[in-house]
Order: sequence, then structure tokens, then C-alpha cells
Amino acid sequence: MSNKVFELMKDLEHEQVVFCHDPHSNLKAIIAIHNTTLGPALGGTRMWNYASDDEAVVDALRLSRGMTYKAAISGLNLGGGKAVIIGDPSLKSEALWRRYGKFVDSLNGKYITAEDVNTSAADMEFIHLETNHVTGIPEYMGGSGDPSPFTAYGVFVGMKACAQKHWGNDSLSGKKVLVQGVGHVGQYLVGHLTEAGAKVYITDINQARIQETTNKYKVEFIEPERMLDLDLDIYAPCALGATVNDESIPLLKCPIIAGAANNQLAVEKIHGRQLIEKGILYAPDFLINAGGLINVAAEAGGSYNREKVTKDVEKIYQRILDIFALSENENITTQEAAMKIAQKRIDDIAHVKSRL
Ligand code: NAD
Repeated sequence: MSNKVFELMKDLEHEQVVFCHDPHSNLKAIIAIHNTTLGPALGGTRMWNYASDDEAVVDALRLSRGMTYKAAISGLNLGGGKAVIIGDPSLKSEALWRRYGKFVDSLNGKYITAEDVNTSAADMEFIHLETNHVTGIPEYMGGSGDPSPFTAYGVFVGMKACAQKHWGNDSLSGKKVLVQGVGHVGQYLVGHLTEAGAKVYITDINQARIQETTNKYKVEFIEPERMLDLDLDIYAPCALGATVNDESIPLLKCPIIAGAANNQLAVEKIHGRQLIEKGILYAPDFLINAGGLINVAAEAGGSYNREKVTKDVEKIYQRILDIFALSENENITTQEAAMKIAQKRIDDIAHVKSRL
């Protein structure tokens, strides 16, 4: 891979990739800055036991690119960035987070971090000891806390927009919805769905989370290997990426895919097109899951107001409907339509910025 990093950066159009190493705290991190046209690159830090360094690089690059488009389409003045830490999340320590915080600080605000998979508000608290360029810090420290409830609310609102488009009515009452992954986002999403009267199925590989969810909500657990047998109204991927792929598409029995996971389409162009051919309406992931980013962006902006954030997250509804209309009018996939709108905003603002 080492000789391919620049090729990949060129293909995905990255500005900067920073490799961070500290043997004392066992830190191996990659900070990927995709595009800072609209503002500093904001994106969470993921901790994962990657099978190889190459896999980690690809993940950081793909995820940071998604953040650029997510911020742009959400009307935020932020660029796209993301970081990954290579290692076993059960071994994270104060020293690791603080050393990582120093690396973030060394970028002087060009990259602002937050939570992601396997990182929490408590971890952000350690990072904050070494840098101000961190969001999603706990509420008792003046931050906005875990962004997941806002991500989940945005996904719920976005699902309603999908329902409106498909059934001409945005009620989710009685709809059969599968939530794949009942972690931070999935749990809150299940809460909204059960409250709205949906028939909710859940699947996960973590026993504690399954137990927690089935104790708290009226849901039915499905073994992960059986989930594609279900006849569904909505499939909500809320675990990891690339679950919409060559194997799953032929088996999926649902008119709508709308979930929180990043990079849901294994290959954007191919699988986006296959979904259209199969008559499945796909809510672009980086648009529907932007609630958490909208929340941490408000925190980073220094004038945090929960009510305003909630209203801003609700704008996802209309954005989704606009994207569906553009996709139909131009015969492009919904993902392409969303990218087109996001790229246009980046180009327009770059033009504004280059003027006196
Ligand atoms: P999380 O780690 O808290 O939850 C993920 C859940 O998925 C876990 O319960 C895990 O056990 C489960 N899982 C993993 N592999 C699985 C599999 N093969 N089958 C079924 N379940 C599986 O993460 P999260 O914060 O809830 O985020 C979920 C997804 O949403 C991620 O892709 C993340 O990048 C994306 N996302 C999260 C946020 C946020 O605010 N947390 C914002 C935007 C996007």
C-alpha cells in the first residue's frame, strides 16, 4: 500500500493524510483531511482492530471523503476529515487519548475530531485535555455530549421522507423495519420507531446490546444470518459499511433502504444503479446520517442551542425529497444526486472565497 497512498489520495482527491505513532501509549492513528474548502475538516475518530494498516488507510480515506459531502449537503461551513486508530478498543487508555489529542492539536484546527465507532464522550474528554479542537465532549464540560441521538433522529426523519415518497404518506405506523446494529445510533432509532408504531426487527452480534434493546423496547430479534429472509418495508443499516453489495441486493426484500451506517453501498456506482433497477429507494447515507454532524458543528461554532439543532436536523426531510426528485429528473442514482448537490455547493463557495 505505502506506494499506493498517493494514488488513492489522488483518486479520492484528498488534501492531506497524517500518520501518528507513539510506541509508549501504543498509538497508531491516521488522520485523513479530504477537503477544507468550506471550513476546517470535522469528523470523528474511529477505533478498530483493522486486519492490516492498508485496510485502515482505505477506511480513513473513504470515511473522510464522505464527511466532506455530508457537511456540504447539510449547509455546514465545514470540510471533511476523519481519523482512525488502529487497535483493540478494549485496550484504550488515558495516555493513548491524550497523546492522540496532541497530534490533533498539532494541526492547529485544520482537523476537529469527535466520537465515532468505539469512541465515546469520555474519550473526547481526555482528548480535550490536550486540544480545543474536539467536539462531542460531555455536557458537564460545556459540550453537547453524544451526537448519536441526533443522528438517530435525522435517520428517523429521513425515513419518514422515504415513506412519503414511496407510499404518499409519511406515517411509519405498522411498517416493518429492520435495524441492523443496535449500538449508539441504532438504540435511539429503535426508540423513535417503536414510538411511531412501527413493527421493529433488530439484529446485532453483541449479546449485551441485543439484551438491552429487547428489555427496553417491543422488538423482535433476528439472527444476523437470517435477516435477509425477512419481508420488510425498510432496511436500516446501522452497523458497519458496505452491507449493500452483490450478495445482499438480490436477496433484499424491501422498497426502502434508510439507515445510519457510513458507506452503505459497497461500490457506489454499481450498487446504486442496481437498487434503482430493483425498485429500491435508497436514502444516501451521508445525507440521512448527518444529524450528529449538524449537532457537533453547532457545538464547534460556539453557540450551541439544542432546539435550533433539532430544527436543523429536521431539514433532512426536505433534502431527501429534493434528492429523490433530482435523481428521477436526471436519471441518476440518489447517491449521485446527493453528491452533485454537495459538489455544487463546494464549487460555488470556492468561487465566492476566491473573489475579493
Ligand atoms: P456502535 O459501535 O455504537 O454500534 C454499532 C453496532 O453494530 C454495535 O452494536 C455492533 O455490535 C453492531 N454490529 C457490528 N457488526 C455487526 C453485524 N455484522 N451485524 C449486526 N450488527 C453488527 O456505532 P454507532 O455510533 O451506533 O454507529 C453506527 C453506524 O452509524 C456506523 O457505521 C457509524 O459510522 C455510523 N454513524 C454514526 C454516527 C453517530 O452519531 N454515532 C453518525 C453518523 C454515522
